[in-house]
Amino acid sequence: MSNTLTINKSKYLEEILINLKQKNQNQPEFIQAAQEILKSAEPVILKREKEYRQLGLLERLIEPERVITFRVPWVDDNGRVQVNRGYRVQFNSAIGPYKGGLRFHESVNLSVMKFLAFEQVFKNALTGLPMGGAKGGSDFDPKGKSDNEIMRFCQSFMNELQMHIGSNVDIPAGDIGVGAREIGYLFGQYKKVKGAFEAGALTGKGLEYGGSLARKEATGHGLIYFMREMLQDNKLDLRGKTAVISGSGNVAIYALEKAVEYGVKVIAMSDSNGCIYDKNGIDIETIKLIKENLRGRIKTYTQHISSAEYYENGDIVPPLYRIKADIVLPCATQNDINLECAKVIFKNGTIAVGEGANMPTTTEAVNYLIENGVLFAPAKAANAGGVATSCLEMAQNSMRYFWSYKEVDQKLDVIMTKIYSRCKEAAYEYGLENNICAGANISSFRKVARAMRAQGIV
Ligand code: NDP
Repeated sequence: MSNTLTINKSKYLEEILINLKQKNQNQPEFIQAAQEILKSAEPVILKREKEYRQLGLLERLIEPERVITFRVPWVDDNGRVQVNRGYRVQFNSAIGPYKGGLRFHESVNLSVMKFLAFEQVFKNALTGLPMGGAKGGSDFDPKGKSDNEIMRFCQSFMNELQMHIGSNVDIPAGDIGVGAREIGYLFGQYKKVKGAFEAGALTGKGLEYGGSLARKEATGHGLIYFMREMLQDNKLDLRGKTAVISGSGNVAIYALEKAVEYGVKVIAMSDSNGCIYDKNGIDIETIKLIKENLRGRIKTYTQHISSAEYYENGDIVPPLYRIKADIVLPCATQNDINLECAKVIFKNGTIAVGEGANMPTTTEAVNYLIENGVLFAPAKAANAGGVATSCLEMAQNSMRYFWSYKEVDQKLDVIMTKIYSRCKEAAYEYGLENNICAGANISSFRKVARAMRAQGIV
């Protein structure tokens, strides 16, 4: 079985990759994401090299349509003025209005924003739904801030962002550090400034004011639907397997919930400080209580559940990835699984890795896992359930109508199943068989490239 393909090299792509590195020297995450997609798409590029060169297609593809940065001043509870930096990267609108989440985390910078927006372009294309790609956020860290501070920050952020978004222009949603509370404050301010209830301008809204049932759960649940498809396709079953999940935020919690529903025993989860191990299987209600209600740290799980142990981070391989499990689901942040982690994961006999977070696995680690026969579900396919359900939220907002939980969930399941098929078909077409990662890149690249070609030089 072949997972990699030996191909001729595209001269055009080679030039583009040199240019990419020169022009974006201080943006390692963006270079990493762009290189990964473009290299995977090389067989497609080779077929149409002359035409793409004439259209400047790759030059245009790697340059965001618009990058907005702005000042976000706010007053903390001690009356001190604080200033953060806000971003919105509107990367590509070839197949629909810009769409992508907002991240509030101290690690946010232009490179991270551009990598996330670029990934979003291809992820959204894979869903089969009409959405372009964007991402935004701020280096503001909501951890330890009071509700009033969060509200004042969100209001100030939206005072600027509102000029650049709208239901047919750009539709933000949540991401790390932006959950139901933040979306509520952002939407409230958008409504006030615009003087109109434009529900379709933000997704991830509360159910009382235009949100969709099953949106909160969608990324995590969708990840498990995707894993189910990938395992079934390889004559394997989720039932009876063990799993570890990195992170304990929105994506991780609902991946845990659906995994347990499918008969998986999740034995470990983490946050940025360390991980908990519970040989009896992590208790979902306790995790929800700690993370969603108390906004606490994962180590407090051991105060609730006596069979659990806590391990602090410190080593190059976080303790979570040293725990033997059939399935590994990174659901925290980017570049979480490096080559060292990948080697440990392989040695532990893991059969499948599914990316719930965006780019949680470094390029070397992805290649190592695939070359060693570990089934690998890439983020842009496996975590697309969140944005797909955001699109279903927009559809309901346009209809001024609501679907039941079951209706939305069934649509999500169909979407994830189709995404898997698209990746698989593209991989087969190019002789890459089980390489779902390359299949995802090829399938989405082709769709975006076709739309850009059809719309001329814009
Ligand atoms: P949350 O803010 O709800 O949770 C993030 C989790 O990741 C927390 O447990 C956090 O721990 C942990 N984490 C964050 N940074 C680090 C770090 N540097 N090292 C270790 N752990 C870290 O975010 P989400 O669950 O929404 O997002 C998680 C990932 O999923 C992100 O990559 C996001 O882009 C991606 N994603 C999210 C979607 C969504 O619908 N929410 C959709 C598609 C992708 P701590 O509390 O200690 O910071």
